[in-house]
Amino acid sequence: MEILYAILILLGLGLLLGLGLAIAAKVLHVKEDERIEEVAKRLPNYNCGSCGYAGCHDMAEAIVSGKEENLRKCKPGKEDQNFKPIIEYLNEHPNEDGSKVKAHL
Ligand code: SF4
Repeated sequence: MEILYAILILLGLGLLLGLGLAIAAKVLHVKEDERIEEVAKRLPNYNCGSCGYAGCHDMAEAIVSGKEENLRKCKPGKEDQNFKPIIEYLNEHPNEDGSKVKAHL
């Protein structure tokens, strides 16, 4: 009988914590700038880190936020396949205030 109580208590706690996590995920959700994902798609996606960032997503985040302007920091990136499409995309998708993201070769 004691084991049954212990199992019920653990199940109840699990449900309560799961519900708490689900609510926290909804309430604390931060919407990411969709341009980050678009820039990340245009990077080589080797996630090699030779740009000095943890991976392509971090590099994309730095580019879109204006922290990183030099696209050539992505060593495996190619001008025609990666950098020019990123610059074109960013020129077509400026910041909310209308200013352009400064990214160059
Ligand atoms: S160097 Fe290029 S491919 Fe490697 S992680 Fe950085 S952005 Fe991605």
